[in-house]
Amino acid sequence: MRHAEFFSATYSEARGKFLDACTAAGAVVKSLRNPNAVGPQGEALYTDVARFGPAESELLFIAASATHGVEGFCGSGCQVGFMRTRSHEARPAGSTLLLIHAMNPYGFAHVRRVNEENIDLNRNFVDHSRPHPASSAYDEIHPLILPDDWDGPARASADRAIAAYIAERGMPAFQSAMSGGQYAHSDGVFFGGRAPAWSNKMWRGLLAEQMPGRRRVAFLDLHTGLGPYGYGEPIFLSWPDMAAFERARQWYGTDVTAPEAGTSTSAVVRGVVATAFADLAAPAEITGIALEFGTMPVAEVLGAVRADNWLYARGDPSSPRGREIKRQIRDAFYCDKDDWKGMVFERADAVLREGFAGLGS
Ligand SMILES: [Zn+2]
Repeated sequence: MRHAEFFSATYSEARGKFLDACTAAGAVVKSLRNPNAVGPQGEALYTDVARFGPAESELLFIAASATHGVEGFCGSGCQVGFMRTRSHEARPAGSTLLLIHAMNPYGFAHVRRVNEENIDLNRNFVDHSRPHPASSAYDEIHPLILPDDWDGPARASADRAIAAYIAERGMPAFQSAMSGGQYAHSDGVFFGGRAPAWSNKMWRGLLAEQMPGRRRVAFLDLHTGLGPYGYGEPIFLSWPDMAAFERARQWYGTDVTAPEAGTSTSAVVRGVVATAFADLAAPAEITGIALEFGTMPVAEVLGAVRADNWLYARGDPSSPRGREIKRQIRDAFYCDKDDWKGMVFERADAVLREGFAGLGS
């Protein structure tokens, strides 16, 4: 079986493949429509939830895609592959598996990391009833991130200032300032929002329905954009729960990283979707990781995020320049090459099976 066939060129094609695979594999599917947005062809946008196994059980495994929209080209392909290769059948006896297709369907359909409100869903799970975390490091660079023009003197000047920042303080400091998450600039990058996004409410509603009665829960969130080409880095999501960290390393190996320990390609971020588990009263034991697949060097990935943000804040996505930027961001989060897809699927499938073994242990 050619792994490249699991992957799709658009959200609509991906959704079609996912639903077809669900039907063939006998999943129970629930489709949740995002009423606040449509796709580029005016199509309806859904998060689709496929269930294998009983509705009620002690053991639950959740594998999610497209928390960061455009990263769904990868995650959707993995989920389709899980079903076509019948990996779903390797879950522990009596357990439940949920495949969540397109946590952020707007971003997937429009080839953006963010949702319909320019929100990074993985920075949106903070307590919005309290003052938002300050982000002075981002405040300082925001004017450089969003220059007035893209082809003129403002962009050129901003690029020189960014190069000077990186030369002086290092790339990790710039990555942290840019991607750590911020709540002050709704036209900026890695914006966490000021209220729960549709996807946030959808996910919390799903968990409220799914968590009662569970004893152990595993969460696998599929991402792209950081690390070496085709490598899948398992990133621990529930720092500082050290018991869960040890469990994740038992299940997935000692290469499980944590941004807070300085071992990950990711900056320390707050408000990730896995945070929602901690808010539930259910006493289940949670073991959550992101699986982050590398695409291209981080400077190019951050450059693509900056360009796409500029395009929607100041530019015209339908212009020739706009189409060029859309190509740039797609390439930054999805390597449309057979060797990459093969590496990605084999790694994701191995990690899924390690997670199943851990869940059943
Ligand atoms: Zn991501």
